[in-house]
Amino acid sequence: MYVGRFAPSPTGPLHAGSLVAALASWLDARAHGGRWLVRIEDVDTPRCVPGADRFILSQLATCGLTPDEAPTWQSRHGGRYQAALDQLVAAGHAYPCACSRKDIEIAQATLGVTRQRGAELPYPGTCRPEHGGLRGRAPRAWRLHTGSFASDGAPAPADAHFTAINSEAPSGWLTWHDRRLGPQRQHVEREVGDFVLQRADGLWAYQLAVVVDDAAQGVTHVVRGEDLADNTPRQMSLQRALGLPTPHYLHTPLVLAADGHKLSKQNGAFAIDLGDPVTALRDAAHVLDLSPATGDALAPALAEWSAEWRDRWGVDSASAMARSAVIG
Ligand SMILES: [Zn+2]
Repeated sequence: MYVGRFAPSPTGPLHAGSLVAALASWLDARAHGGRWLVRIEDVDTPRCVPGADRFILSQLATCGLTPDEAPTWQSRHGGRYQAALDQLVAAGHAYPCACSRKDIEIAQATLGVTRQRGAELPYPGTCRPEHGGLRGRAPRAWRLHTGSFASDGAPAPADAHFTAINSEAPSGWLTWHDRRLGPQRQHVEREVGDFVLQRADGLWAYQLAVVVDDAAQGVTHVVRGEDLADNTPRQMSLQRALGLPTPHYLHTPLVLAADGHKLSKQNGAFAIDLGDPVTALRDAAHVLDLSPATGDALAPALAEWSAEWRDRWGVDSASAMARSAVIG
């Protein structure tokens, strides 16, 4: 049984970019005859804007994108996340870290690694138990020991490994298949390092909350923006560490701002026009390479895009293409 979800952060209203992800995940659930859930990702409470959650839900309703169950809020799932962290600690897959950002910069500088603009430095594993642990320092955060799930030091995998779906090559590369982007890979331990599960300020990390909730809600298919694609291997590592299934992934194209960067509140993303949902959805459909849809009524337009999506991404799309080829 297909279960999909749209998981917005309530840091502001839906804009053109987030509507693309919402529409795509809704269409994919319809195309598979599945259920579509909405989950408000509000674990990073300092970034949340009061009232934005309700506003997003009203925007979705105006666009005819209604969830099949009552929406959920991650801020109410702390017990779930604590249980998952306890499980990881008990299994030796998570450990406490005493490093500040500055500590990590210094450790990496000694290794000759400098921060790229806008990128996080990979964690060098300073507080790993095999490196001596906290050595008397006070714990700040909890991290996943990625080495437990990906070994290091061997050469990059051959192409045969690269195309393997959801498999882990012995070299430490994590490879997976994205339904739209095709074969993907990342060396989590080297490119990201042991990532944070619970932050120094006590807040739950996005990666842990997403993985735990996707599993708790039985999510089988994740459809979201391409800016989140490089989170996938971290989430897969966590799924393995927790013994959870890995969903299918499809990452949608991004809406770019005039400056070529991802659309954000900083570069002019504005709330979609609730007065004209079909036009807003038509723009989103265009980004998804769907037809403009005829007419100005909401329901027929959504039905048209659903049929088109089913042909392209639906469960029978391959056999449908084969059939049409035979019919000519
Ligand atoms: Zn540390």
